[in-house]
Amino acid sequence: MDLLNTLVDKGLRRELPTREEALAVLATSDDELLDVVAAAGKVRRQWFGRRVKLNYLVNLKSGLCPEDCSYCSQRLGSKAEILKYTWLKPEEASKAAAAGVAGGAKRVCLVASGRGPTDRDVDRVSRTIEAIKEENEGVEVCACLGLLSDGQAERLRSAGADAYNHNLNTSEGTYGDITTTHTYADRVDTVQKAHAAGLSACSGLIAGMGESDEDLVDVVFALRELDPDSVPVNFLIPFEGTPLAKEWNLTPQRALRILAMVRFVCPDVEVRLAGGREVHLRTLQPLALHLANSIFLGDYLTSEGQAGKADLEMIADAGFEVEGTDTTTLPGHRADAASCGTGGGCGSGSVCSSEEPAPAAVPAPAPADQARTDLVAVRRRGAGTDLAPNA
Ligand code: SF4
Repeated sequence: MDLLNTLVDKGLRRELPTREEALAVLATSDDELLDVVAAAGKVRRQWFGRRVKLNYLVNLKSGLCPEDCSYCSQRLGSKAEILKYTWLKPEEASKAAAAGVAGGAKRVCLVASGRGPTDRDVDRVSRTIEAIKEENEGVEVCACLGLLSDGQAERLRSAGADAYNHNLNTSEGTYGDITTTHTYADRVDTVQKAHAAGLSACSGLIAGMGESDEDLVDVVFALRELDPDSVPVNFLIPFEGTPLAKEWNLTPQRALRILAMVRFVCPDVEVRLAGGREVHLRTLQPLALHLANSIFLGDYLTSEGQAGKADLEMIADAGFEVEGTDTTTLPGHRADAASCGTGGGCGSGSVCSSEEPAPAAVPAPAPADQARTDLVAVRRRGAGTDLAPNA
């Protein structure tokens, strides 16, 4: 397909596709799926080889959030029967993190529910970061604490945080339908604060919330503009007890097309396969490794993932290798820019090419996914419990 040849050429040159090209990827048919994966896989291998970075989530504080993000099992009024607990002590968090590192994770992601941290919370998380770094040499630590106030990103940086995660989640146009207690602009502001403080910015999306193809392209182009170093791609886990419980919109094929589109738009950025991969990709998960160069090991914040051992086996069986701590994740041009604090600069930034994308075959609409509530398991082990974590 001319479309795919054009996108591979652009991806290898770190050139931004047009919106029409990104939309055309989402509109490809299931018959073209393997061609799409192969094309985006070439771009992935150019910048990240066959390496897979493992990340490990530690939920520092679970549930009871005053915000109303519709997709979230921790939201205000959520009836989801998730674990609810207040801040883990630094040593508890460090123990959970160590399990992930022992399983092969090179980054630990410290997450807390809530609108954003108080200065006391930042102190608490700073002590946790120090404890984790003391126990686990070379580990990267990312904090994800919600909206940041002035000066908090700098304090986290001083405490040793390497990165800060705050997702845009969905397009600016639909943000108000998903959350009413804060705005899209608030989210953009926090990503910019993290960037400005010299933290590696991590910001991504959630697909499957009923959004259109245009919305998906909007949020991915907005992310590209914000220029994070990593882009987590979540697939909605429709938790019973949340407003989006009935939104089973994704097929494994569509999930792969979305990942391919993200790879083409952000060719040299760490694209992370995040929450919902087991639920929506199911047996097609290994194909996603040809698109994403990073995954979460083990469990998620409030739901259980497949066994960490199964993650490692999947990576090996698919012909990929776990990225070691001695390897820099990002390609040289981005890593150098990040280390001198000027941001990554993931491409020329120019929307070039007036070429018309090749007309995609008119796709048969993919059937809506069956509700697979059997695959959604609330997390009952690891952080906040007496049971061993999954790593
Ligand atoms: S996504 Fe974060 S801010 Fe929104 S409800 Fe969940 S925990 Fe709260």
